[in-house]
Amino acid sequence: MPRGKNKLVKVGDLFLINDVSRMVNLSQKRIREYEKEGFIKPVRERNTNNRLYSSFDVAQIQQINHLIHERGFTLACLRNLMVLAPCWNIFDCPDKEKCAAYQIPWRPCYEVRQYRETLCNGPCERCAIYLNRDVKKERILEPFPRPE
Ligand code: SF4
Repeated sequence: MPRGKNKLVKVGDLFLINDVSRMVNLSQKRIREYEKEGFIKPVRERNTNNRLYSSFDVAQIQQINHLIHERGFTLACLRNLMVLAPCWNIFDCPDKEKCAAYQIPWRPCYEVRQYRETLCNGPCERCAIYLNRDVKKERILEPFPRPE
């Protein structure tokens, strides 16, 4: 398929990695690292095995990159954040009050979504929160030793 220099190539509603790289201003290597670290899960094209990214995946990449490079999270901290913090905090959701995930904060959003609609455009199985759901919750702060 002929491709103009700055033309995005969409496969259905999905983008190839070189286009995503330009869209989010990150190297392809960095994008593949986010996948290797378990924060994104692009689909694979059946015939070529090329990675294909939806606009949801692109938004996830931008948010993960923001949390690491602008907010200073390490990868380990970020994994802990995924299991400890609610999705509306992680993704800084401006519409949280209208979302079932916010109204039922004692359940993880992907469980709430099984019986109530949330505002997410998912799918959960490609979301950083869902992908890290089995990370062991770490105690962030050790308690002070009690005086004898
Ligand atoms: S896509 Fe699913 S796992 Fe991700 S924030 Fe939305 S409801 Fe939660």
